[in-house]
Amino acid sequence: MSQTFNRIVVVGGGSAGWMTAAALVTGLKGRVAVEVVESEDIGIVGVGEATFPSIRDYNQLLGIDEAEFLRATNGSYKLGIRFGDWLEVGQDYFHTFGHFGNLFGSQTLWAQHRRMGLTEPLGQQCVPTVMAMKGRFVLPSEQAQFKYAYHFDAVRYAAFLRELAVKRDARHTQGRIADVSRRADGGVAALHLDDGRRVEGDLFIDCSGFNALLLGKTLNEPFVDFGHWLPVDGAWACPCERTGEELAPYTQATALEGGWAWRIPLQNRTGHGHVFASRFIDPDRAREQLLARLDGKPLAEPRLLRFSTGHRERFWVHNVVAIGLSSGFLEPLESTSIYLIQDGISRLMAALTAVTAGRPLNESDLALFNDGAARRFARIRDFIILHYCLTRRRDSALWRHVSSMELPETLAFKLELWRRYGVLHQYDDEGFDATSWLAVHAGMDHWPERHDPVYGEIPRERALAALDQRRQAIEASVERMPPHHFTLLKMLAERRV
Ligand SMILES: Cc1cc2nc3c(=O)[nH]c(=O)nc-3n(C[C@H](O)[C@H](O)[C@H](O)COP(=O)(O)OP(=O)(O)OC[C@H]3O[C@@H](n4cnc5c(N)ncnc54)[C@H](O)[C@@H]3O)c2cc1C
Repeated sequence: MSQTFNRIVVVGGGSAGWMTAAALVTGLKGRVAVEVVESEDIGIVGVGEATFPSIRDYNQLLGIDEAEFLRATNGSYKLGIRFGDWLEVGQDYFHTFGHFGNLFGSQTLWAQHRRMGLTEPLGQQCVPTVMAMKGRFVLPSEQAQFKYAYHFDAVRYAAFLRELAVKRDARHTQGRIADVSRRADGGVAALHLDDGRRVEGDLFIDCSGFNALLLGKTLNEPFVDFGHWLPVDGAWACPCERTGEELAPYTQATALEGGWAWRIPLQNRTGHGHVFASRFIDPDRAREQLLARLDGKPLAEPRLLRFSTGHRERFWVHNVVAIGLSSGFLEPLESTSIYLIQDGISRLMAALTAVTAGRPLNESDLALFNDGAARRFARIRDFIILHYCLTRRRDSALWRHVSSMELPETLAFKLELWRRYGVLHQYDDEGFDATSWLAVHAGMDHWPERHDPVYGEIPRERALAALDQRRQAIEASVERMPPHHFTLLKMLAERRV
């Protein structure tokens, strides 16, 4: 493999392309030339509106001011996801981004929850969950520590990053790539645009979305299909007018007959979508179900997106690295695509930083890159399957399928450890920590059969009193917090000093 990466060409100007380009020009300032090639005619997916807390780390590393970012993207704050009707119709639970405080020193104690006759929902012991349910939001402080993320307009985010990257010397080339020429070693030599221009590079980052122009169409890297476990393969997306002043600080994900519906509140509109499995529901019926759920006037015709869940076998092949939808897609239930983009960027930056510091990459480095990225996909896949496979719903073909399908071994092992011993096992490259797994187990009313005997020593009355005291303290502190829209407006009015 050539070790010269002076000219890096990013193919695609969606969130993946501009996030990658902005990170490269910021992190490797002056050491590489970065060019982004995108086609306005093809456009971007642009429906990714809900994120994961790691987006804040990305923005901070790039020196992006929070108020400026929220203004530019019509963004709002997100404390987690409210899951409706996943266990049974009428039941709901909240998955926050962790932190249940010190529940007698261990999350495992919650495994005893039922045995001790404590039937209150786990969320009552969690500050951000109570904030979300009451529609409140404040930034974390020493007294209230929690993670948060954002909802935003993905098209505006890509445009915001484009401006930033171009200011930091990324070159922007508009044009449709019609052909790709190869090097003798099988890698990519140059892109040929349909107007005759030619773009050469040493390293090509494939951010061409579902097109997967370089890694898929040119290098023919096989696709690892997760469709059996994650059968959704289409989505209708439709923005609608925002109604009222209130702004929910969370994403709503409601399970439906053939999939699930999202609701994402932004400053200027509410994003709605229905992710469905075409094996189990006719797309026209899925569209009707979405339209029936809108809580404001539609601002556009519903847009249909089709996809496969899974990833390319390898992510870095020859001089092509895929980041974003070109590398793979897990359905958007836990808003993990932008997180996976960031994961790809940090692996790429680590490799390039090593090369620019004089440590050449070898085959093992590439194998580690590819294995790590594949493991990350598999871990998140397992976490998403967890939301489906514990369902008690049997009212439609989709729910009968997911409740009886054979699970990936890695997930089956975790479920066994939880059921038998109350252990929340974590592998390498997890995307979600034990607290997140606990939130879904608890939300899906899934408890272990046995417990660590150590916890049996806690007298029931003492446990009840401690939990009650904590619940009341959380209630009282959240009651004093302002509503989400109030905090947001205050942030939007802030000027950078
Ligand atoms: C239904 C759905 C819901 C989603 N929800 C979320 C969510 O809530 N949260 C989240 O994090 N993610 C979500 N995502 C994923 C998110 O939309 C994407 O991960 C993100 O936008 C990155 O997309 P991308 O940049 O890889 O691809 P795209 O946005 O598709 O960009 C591809 C780019 O490649 C260019 N291109 C392609 N072919 C050529 C060519 N021949 N010549 C020149 N240029 C070309 C295009 O012009 C475009 O600029 C969702 C995705 C779907 C499908």
